[in-house]
Amino acid sequence: PTVYLNGQYLPLDQAKISVLDRGFLFGDGIYEVIPAYAGRLFRLPEHIDRLEASLKSIRLNSPHSREQWAGILEPLLEPGQDQYIYLQITRGVAPKRDHAFPEHIEPTVFAMCSPIVPLSGRDSGVKAITLDDTRWALCHIKAITLLANILLRQNAVDQGCTEAILVKDGYVTEGAASNIFAVLDGILVTPPKGEEILPGITRDVILELARTNDIPYSEDIISLEALKTADEIWLTSSTREIIPVVELDSEPVSDGKPGPVWQKMHQLYQEFKKAQS
Ligand code: PMP
Repeated sequence: PTVYLNGQYLPLDQAKISVLDRGFLFGDGIYEVIPAYAGRLFRLPEHIDRLEASLKSIRLNSPHSREQWAGILEPLLEPGQDQYIYLQITRGVAPKRDHAFPEHIEPTVFAMCSPIVPLSGRDSGVKAITLDDTRWALCHIKAITLLANILLRQNAVDQGCTEAILVKDGYVTEGAASNIFAVLDGILVTPPKGEEILPGITRDVILELARTNDIPYSEDIISLEALKTADEIWLTSSTREIIPVVELDSEPVSDGKPGPVWQKMHQLYQEFKKAQS
């Protein structure tokens, strides 16, 4: 496969970066994951908005204009396929290892494209566990520094679960690599945006679909207690879409089957994807 690195399109095995890259030494960088359906990038302006917000938060000037990104990423797509672009920008290669920002260095820009492989068993629902949210205070930045997320996800996988649902001060924040929704007393609820969660693009699409289809929803905090008795729990992300959780901490969610609100939203999401591509 061909990848993009600093202005060039190269075979994957020829794309090389320095060991002094600050992404490698410090995790000093940010990323985006952008899905493409039938070969067309989905919600690109929203992904670029979030990319620019992440860059601003880490005080890195955007190496390209908004208009340039599409032209850089589109050559990586295979026509007609469902794929996703991984785009990473680090602060660049510094002359030496020093925490403070180096002067006059160029960011490293890397992008690759991979097929979207639907999560097996998604339509029958997955298991999740709740874990203490051990991440840092700036979870709204899509930072490449993912050690806490990785340890949390692995803890879930070790217990036969698909995702770790994170809990901070008695309230649910999000999954290790996903946003969370719950149906509580007939209302679709997701935690409000803030520094505790990543502002998911899939999350916003779902809220938009709820609004336009008269599905009652609210952006509100969800206590762990409320989650334990939720009618439905979903996890959302660009590559996995909307995953129903049917078992939480070894207890069934409702009757242990994906619920009616998920059925409806899943259908609306598929129609919305088709209409966009
Ligand atoms: N939260 C976290 C921590 C994530 O890593 C992700 C993306 N994998 C999401 C939420 C979902 O965001 P999006 O819908 O934009 O993929």
